[in-house]
Amino acid sequence: MFDSLKIKEDFPILKQTVNDEPLIYLDNAATTQKPKQVLQAVQDYYFHDNANVHRGVHTLAERATRSYEESRETVRAFINASSTKEVLFTRGTTTALNWVAKGFGDLVVEEGDEIYITPMEHHSNIVPWQQLAFRKRATLKYLPLTEDAVVDMEKAKEIISEKGKILALCHASNVMGSIHSIPRLAELIHQVGGYIVVDGAQSVPHTKVDVQALNADFFAFSGHKMCGPTGIGVLYGKQALLERMEPVEYGGEMIDFVYDETSTWTELPWKFEAGTPNIAGAIGLKAAIEYLQAIGMDEIERHEQKLMAHLMPQLSDIEGLSIYGPTDHTKRTGIVTFNLDGVHPHDLATAFDMEGIAIRAGHHCAQPLMRYLDTPATARASFYFYNSKEDVDQFVVSLKKIKEFFNNGFI
Ligand code: PMP
Repeated sequence: MFDSLKIKEDFPILKQTVNDEPLIYLDNAATTQKPKQVLQAVQDYYFHDNANVHRGVHTLAERATRSYEESRETVRAFINASSTKEVLFTRGTTTALNWVAKGFGDLVVEEGDEIYITPMEHHSNIVPWQQLAFRKRATLKYLPLTEDAVVDMEKAKEIISEKGKILALCHASNVMGSIHSIPRLAELIHQVGGYIVVDGAQSVPHTKVDVQALNADFFAFSGHKMCGPTGIGVLYGKQALLERMEPVEYGGEMIDFVYDETSTWTELPWKFEAGTPNIAGAIGLKAAIEYLQAIGMDEIERHEQKLMAHLMPQLSDIEGLSIYGPTDHTKRTGIVTFNLDGVHPHDLATAFDMEGIAIRAGHHCAQPLMRYLDTPATARASFYFYNSKEDVDQFVVSLKKIKEFFNNGFI
């Protein structure tokens, strides 16, 4: 039986008060909290095994290397990659997407080619493609969205042409909460000989992801959004593509031979991992994945769905509240982005903070989307499996109280 109150016990940070109220953390799309098991794994590593990886023959170096590489295997199994050669450790989603745009985009995109993204991408899945388009004199095109905030397949079919080389889009949106059908989009871009790059930052933490079933050519995600440490993330790529892809960083660890004038690269996956990696981060990520798996990704998804089923009807009768994204809560993750008439989202977030509730306000690193929605900013509450039904109720109570406060006193 899923017990979010019991699960909360694993998260020391959640047992505090903020502004004299019990903390309710609803900024999980920005970063998630870390359970004791993850903190312990990182501490154990530094207490007992700290050494550099891949280089030493001494016992600590061997232990550190084993743990680091075991983490890669844990990630591989978690996303069902076919080999650990397909799992690269990065600093996070941003680094992963930049690597693909530079190391692979530069190889396959030529002048006059087309790169497709959507209006609801995070800046980390826009700017690298803009830069690639500049470098190659290629065209960046935005695929239109439906009412439910997913790519409009009919319009996409009209836009995607023989010149299409890359389709880069989010699996789940960090603002709209909507989820893309990746296999259908993969088929579209593969038909014209292009490649699909998926930003999985908001899907991997919340649902079971199978990169082979998705047929993603590249797939990126961040450890810190799934109970792992900051500074560690993953780039998955199909082996044949990673064999072709150029390293983006050069230095130690990624070389085979260094001659006076030239060098050769070592094999996958290390060809991309120049320099001392984030060993503790990888170990923490392994612990995070094991923690999520012990609960069960299906259970996590089901619980978040229940929270949304409980929340959304309560929001629908609040006058002046606009909610972005699909109206049907079964078509969205645990992200609710909203605006309240006449109240700036930053004031909303400050008022929620006074109630001990952490939400986010701003453009959510998605300025093109804000223009698309015709709003400068929004507020966003994002839930995770350690949030309870009581958290949802308190969020609604506070929202109504805040609305009254602004209606009566300030506008
Ligand atoms: N893509 C999406 C959809 C995100 O939500 C985020 C984080 N807000 C990122 C990319 C970037 O992730 P990171 O900052 O961990 O690199």
